[in-house]
Amino acid sequence: MIEIAVGAGIGVLIFLAVVGVNITPLLFIALVGGAFYYFTKTQSKVNFQEISSQGKYNNPLSFDNIGGQDTAIKELQEALDFMIHADEISRMGIRPLKGVLLVGPPGTGKTLLARAAASYTRSAFIAASGSEFIEMYAGVGAKRVRKLFAEARKKAIREKKSSAIIFIDELEVLGGKRGSHSSHLEYDQTLNQLLVEMDGITQDETRILVIGATNRADLLDQALIRPGRFDRQVQVGLPDKKGRARILEIHLKNKKVRDEALIDEIARATFGFSGAHIESLANEAAILAMRENAAEIEMHHFNEAIDKVIMGEKLDRQISPQEMERVSIHESGHAVISELTEPGSVSSLTIVPRGKALGFLRKSPQDDQHLYTCEQLEKQIMVTVAGAVAEEIKYGSKSTGARNDFEQAWTLAREIVDCGLSSLGIINSQDTPQQVVYEQCKEIIHQLEDQTRKLLSAEEDLLFKLSAFLLTEESIDRETFLQLKAS
Ligand code: ATP
Repeated sequence: MIEIAVGAGIGVLIFLAVVGVNITPLLFIALVGGAFYYFTKTQSKVNFQEISSQGKYNNPLSFDNIGGQDTAIKELQEALDFMIHADEISRMGIRPLKGVLLVGPPGTGKTLLARAAASYTRSAFIAASGSEFIEMYAGVGAKRVRKLFAEARKKAIREKKSSAIIFIDELEVLGGKRGSHSSHLEYDQTLNQLLVEMDGITQDETRILVIGATNRADLLDQALIRPGRFDRQVQVGLPDKKGRARILEIHLKNKKVRDEALIDEIARATFGFSGAHIESLANEAAILAMRENAAEIEMHHFNEAIDKVIMGEKLDRQISPQEMERVSIHESGHAVISELTEPGSVSSLTIVPRGKALGFLRKSPQDDQHLYTCEQLEKQIMVTVAGAVAEEIKYGSKSTGARNDFEQAWTLAREIVDCGLSSLGIINSQDTPQQVVYEQCKEIIHQLEDQTRKLLSAEEDLLFKLSAFLLTEESIDRETFLQLKAS
């Protein structure tokens, strides 16, 4: 139709030119009209193919194809079981789960997890990225959100499935705190539309689950993470050595490797690598082997590929073996004191970086607590200073790695003083001279530091055993922790 109109228009213009009419103004009008038509076509009518990256994710993928994310997979599966047993859930009057948030650095497998979730729940899968919703023109983002949900429902019906999973990568772009953008109205409208769509999910025939992925959960608008929206958060961290070995196995499945025992060695040499880095490493090594006409990939190909990935990605993993050892002692210190002061509290321990932290002690889940006694706060201070104390026991000196710990310890000490639990008794912190409060906090921390030093020195064996284990394996679960403690 349009083609006929354009053809006829050109014909008329040529005719007018031939009979001597000045066609310049007409040409100008036609050009402006054409540009306007193109603009409305591309902006207001959403080309959803673009948003959903349809076709890219047609192959089903299972959780077995994802390595090094066992805890994340377990937590995600627990959430997905809500979707699978939807009838039971609704019979019990439980509110269906609408959103799961995957939080972690780039390339750790968040997209893979979402795709595997779709296979696990036999759902239609549709993916979009937060940045695809952001346009200069008002209303376009909101329209795209509506379209995304509508398309997910249609896709589920087309594929004869009763549920659909919508995956939104870079959620912080679309769901950042309202009012924080310069062109805030458009951003806010888009986010509001997402909230409206998520609230509407329950009235649906097709069950919909939104899986969001972000590296910065702290940037998200509070409304998005409140119960009833993205109320489950799953941490997807960098893999530890065992995890990296598993990811390597997955990506070397279709490649010929000289010696399978190499995998362990490569895993050890790739501290700080994400799953995507490891995939790229396996690929690079295969390319290097091919260039040399080698029948199999050998260790020197892997070594060269590791350097290539590190340099190419400017990978932020310049942690030296000495630093790693210090981190392992530091984290072991936290764990030993945590277990001593509160038996059963250590859940896992790792020296794989997470966010700004170089290592991490995961505590066992505890009941919510709103009131703390002085003794409980003191124990917490001991756990926080234990990292630095452990470093001191091993090296005779502390390091800057304890900065956050000390800030936390100070806040806790201040809580003791402000709540009238210190030897100062009940005080009004505003009327008490700053110097007095400061001296009291200092005294509390000083005493607890001494106490921690005594406890840790008595457990030096365990401290060094844990640290040595962490250095080779990078993480420890509760079971291994108890074995080491008993040995
Ligand atoms: P981004 O936040 O940058 O979107 P992401 O966390 O979604 O990253 P994916 O897109 O899932 O990361 O991963 C990219 C590629 O890296 C995958 O296609 C896969 O080849 C590889 N990969 C990443 N993590 C893993 C993993 N845990 N197991 C196996 N392969 C992985």
